[in-house]
Amino acid sequence: MDILNQILNINPNYIVIGLLVIFFSLEQILKSPFRFKNRIEHLFQNILFQITLIILNIFFVTFQVYCIDWLNNNEIGLLYLIELPFWGKLFIAVALYDVTAYWIHRATHSIPLLWRFHRVHHSDTSMDSSTVFRFHPIELILVFGVGNMITAAIFGTDVFAMALYYLILYIFFFFEHSNLNYPDWLNTTVGFVFVTPDQHRVHHQQDQYYTDSNYADIFIIWDRLFGTFKKLSLKEMKYGLKEFEEERKQQFLFLMKSPFVKIKRSVSSQKKT
Ligand SMILES: [Zn+2]
Ligand SMILES: [Zn+2]
Repeated sequence: MDILNQILNINPNYIVIGLLVIFFSLEQILKSPFRFKNRIEHLFQNILFQITLIILNIFFVTFQVYCIDWLNNNEIGLLYLIELPFWGKLFIAVALYDVTAYWIHRATHSIPLLWRFHRVHHSDTSMDSSTVFRFHPIELILVFGVGNMITAAIFGTDVFAMALYYLILYIFFFFEHSNLNYPDWLNTTVGFVFVTPDQHRVHHQQDQYYTDSNYADIFIIWDRLFGTFKKLSLKEMKYGLKEFEEERKQQFLFLMKSPFVKIKRSVSSQKKT
């Protein structure tokens, strides 16, 4: 418990930077499944998203923590109605943050206004560890950040559980996006319950039929349960979005303003059953 407290007290920005250094270094040292050019330029573009997020988050996180603490102090939420041991409550809270993120993520794919922001994450044609940073900050704050506040209001989950959820989430994010070779057995063991890199890679496949699948971040069981789980072999994968393939559309400034630009979504080319 004390150790967990100490870990969660570390500035999350240091943890995220540490994870990037570890995974990005491994990508340079080990054999990668995909070969991409201009890794440093790509890294630089994606880091610009994280810098923007850190600046905007200074204000938002303070507000978010204040709101969730207020809800908890007033014992608002369903979890206050049942008696549970500390660890049980913590596990359920993390799972609730994750399942809410699953549904919000699904909504970002089906509601055109939300897709305009979310497609920034999908635009990356050469996915690696730094793709973890490639999210439009407005999406992370106004869609997923507010989503966490709604989870807290409905279920009574607290800031401690949210901090633990984010820690686990970022470890999974780096694991899922890194351009590293992972053993096949991961998919048939760990992959029954947790999201594996190969499963998240399907989500980054260019064809919309596959893009609209495997929405989960931590527990793949949400996709299995709600009928959105799909498989695809590594050999058939092509990352990104057709409408963002041009080099200038991979740049930070273009991507930041892209939600406000009308860009037609390319239609699914091979609907499979
Ligand atoms: Zn997505
Ligand atoms: Zn992703």
